[in-house]
Amino acid sequence: MSSLVERDQKVVWHPYAPPAASPLFAVERASGVRLVLEDGRELVDGMSSWWSTIHGYRHPHIEAALEAQIKKMPHVMFGGLTHEGAVRLCERLAERSPEGLSRVFLSDSGSVAVEIAIKMALQFWQSRGDTGRSRLLTLRGGYHGDTFGAMAVCDPVTGMHTLFEDTLARHVFVPRPEQRFGESCSDADFAPIESALREHAASLAGVILEPIVQGAGGMWFYSAEVLQRIRALCDELGLLLIADEIATGFGRTGRYFACEHAGISPDILCLGKALTGGTMTMAATLASEDVAQAMGEGDPGVFMHGPTFMGNPLACAAANASLDLLEDGSWQEGVLRIEAQLREELEPCRALPAVKDVRCLGAIGVVELHEPVDMSVVQPAFVEEGIWIRPFGELVYTMPPFVSEPEDVRAITRGIHAVVSTIR
Ligand SMILES: *Cc1c(COP(=O)(O)O)cnc(C)c1O
Repeated sequence: MSSLVERDQKVVWHPYAPPAASPLFAVERASGVRLVLEDGRELVDGMSSWWSTIHGYRHPHIEAALEAQIKKMPHVMFGGLTHEGAVRLCERLAERSPEGLSRVFLSDSGSVAVEIAIKMALQFWQSRGDTGRSRLLTLRGGYHGDTFGAMAVCDPVTGMHTLFEDTLARHVFVPRPEQRFGESCSDADFAPIESALREHAASLAGVILEPIVQGAGGMWFYSAEVLQRIRALCDELGLLLIADEIATGFGRTGRYFACEHAGISPDILCLGKALTGGTMTMAATLASEDVAQAMGEGDPGVFMHGPTFMGNPLACAAANASLDLLEDGSWQEGVLRIEAQLREELEPCRALPAVKDVRCLGAIGVVELHEPVDMSVVQPAFVEEGIWIRPFGELVYTMPPFVSEPEDVRAITRGIHAVVSTIR
């Protein structure tokens, strides 16, 4: 009998991996902040399964909601039918999100939520009879998903645009803002973005960006003033602002939504990842009443999208349960405590020869190296340290569940320091 990993390597594909992924670890179960491997080893989770399991694994409140829903109606089509879970979820998202976002379009994954946002922005101008606006402006270093529309607004290098050059839409890229979070942004600092926006304004439908935190495209935290200036310039030029909060939404940066750091509202907002507390695949695209109204006008008078599993009742139940857990605001204390601990305990990494920069914001800690890591060495090394950390390129980073105890965070920071100090 071959091992699970060997069987996997014969038939399974993994994300961003060759056909036979290696190194690979078999996980059997998970609860709280711990993953239990098939061989019995326990790992403290430093990744929240890619930003999503903010309450930890197997939270009893989410589990109970899922159990109740599965007996009632695991799924039903959303065309022509509605149900309590979806209505309640959309009411709550509209209520809690930045001001002015009053319509919610549910979908099944983050990339799809971005496709929907882009389609909304394009259809918005079409419905007004303004047909020359097919492009978006975006920041280098961004990540918005792996489907074709989303890929076209990802960083050209990390998004591998050359591979798909002939098919990808061509958008306008501006340099990533170099002003860090907490720093100001002068007129001169903003000039490259401002001049590109003014130059291309007539052909643009809008701007798409990750507010404050650029995730998978570089784990970079930029100045809230940049975001305020982009919002103001979009208003002046009449352009739509799409905020992709798929990674940052639901508390990760210390605010419920990252836009709140800048006190701005986008015209379109993308949510995903932590929406169901990391239990079910679900995403949402929120739009302002202006955008929603435009969909109803012009030709064809409807918004042209509708996934099969739109509004899936199980996912709605999980999302509503996750929102319940966030409601009392105690998540913020957890996130701020994790932030303080990550700052203090990752700081010593800065002195290591392999390290270029250390930065933290909310429950996100990043150790940037000079060179990309060798995954065949560091991935098993992190497992040996008893932690689950999944670096990419030169970025070693952690975003633990909000419920992580100080000793869990300590295990993560100690393990990161130990492994990074072996890299020359
Ligand atoms: C993960 C992510 C996406 C894509 O979400 P998927 O669910 O993986 O399709 C889009 N935008 C941002 C900012 C993300 O972090």
